[in-house]
Amino acid sequence: MLRKHKTTVLSLFSALMLCSCSQTAAPLQTDNTAHTRDVFAMDTYMSMKAYGENAETALSAAEKYILRLESELSVTDEQSCIAMLNSKGSGEVTDDATEIIRKALEVGESTDGALDITLYPLLKEWGFTTEDYHIPEQSVIDSLLADSGFERVVLDGNTVTIPESFQIDLGALAKGFTSDKIMDIMQENGADSAIVSLGGNVQAMGTKPDGSPWKVSVRDPFMPDTDMCILEIQAKAVITSGNYERFFTGDDGKNYWHIIDPADGYPADNGLVSVTIIGDSGLQCDALSTALFVLGDGRAQDYWRAHRDFDMVLVTDDKRIIYTEGIADRFTNISNMEAEVLSLD
Ligand code: FAD
Ligand code: MG
Repeated sequence: MLRKHKTTVLSLFSALMLCSCSQTAAPLQTDNTAHTRDVFAMDTYMSMKAYGENAETALSAAEKYILRLESELSVTDEQSCIAMLNSKGSGEVTDDATEIIRKALEVGESTDGALDITLYPLLKEWGFTTEDYHIPEQSVIDSLLADSGFERVVLDGNTVTIPESFQIDLGALAKGFTSDKIMDIMQENGADSAIVSLGGNVQAMGTKPDGSPWKVSVRDPFMPDTDMCILEIQAKAVITSGNYERFFTGDDGKNYWHIIDPADGYPADNGLVSVTIIGDSGLQCDALSTALFVLGDGRAQDYWRAHRDFDMVLVTDDKRIIYTEGIADRFTNISNMEAEVLSLD
């Protein structure tokens, strides 16, 4: 089911790019040829598109970096600094891992612990890492929750220390960091413009080669093979967390998904089925997409009002779309759900 969705995302991405390239605004740059590269890493189909005479060089550098990040960050790769930290309880991690962990702790703090990178043992127990899904016994959930808590992760320079029996995983925000890095690499290598989709998480450098904004679609969580809205962006990340990507149906007939509420150890079920964050930093957007999904409708809106350095599109479990005023003129609803603008008033 997971792979099917991700393939769909990839083909949607290609279709979107194809359709957006057919527009006829006056070209600003001479080389409008799209150079593409697909990579499968972090259990995600990643699709990159770059323009300009240096595009191929930039794509190769980005591919290399993606593979490097995967081997640095993967919890299941015994040689990665994260796996080593998890087995030893303390250790030096790479600069990239340090930056991600710092952001995870910061967002953990600002969201009252909704983002908690120490939930890995609980995620394993639910089977989300192994696909050996089951609903854990309450006593097991209680004991694993007692042995978690992002505030007990100590970061000192590049050295991380966690209590014995703790394990961390950066899956909630590492792909956002990856798309940030891809954008940096595209820029450093002289690509004219670029866009990447990491399993549906999109980040763009600049505008399309013709100077017009990129058009990015967001899936309908109630019909994941269909798009729900189109966003026009330039130099932004658009990152979504939803309950429809990785889930299983329990013996009780209910669906259980991969975003866990640290408050009770169960899949977060606080009124939202999808959260899309639009902002300058992929890392920040990815961290917030997961955290605000956990916080739920009301608290996500409060968080936006208090911070306002990002935009968002929320979809509630009673089929309403709520989008923030900053993207109001770049948002097109193509679903049969009602969409309302969230403003500060
Ligand atoms: P997001 O909402 O961005 O993140 C959800 C993920 O965050 C969950 O899957 C869980 O891992 C974690 N999480 C859940 N609740 C919380 C919470 N409250 N606070 C913090 N974190 C939470 N997956 C595989 O199946 N096989 C692999 O080999 C594999 N390798 C990977 C290697 C790397 C380096 C990375 C970064 C990820 C890897 N993944 C792997 C995970 C896979 O890419 C996940 O699907 C992805 O990280 C989840 O991202 P998302 O965009 O689907 O959801
Ligand atoms: Mg996320």
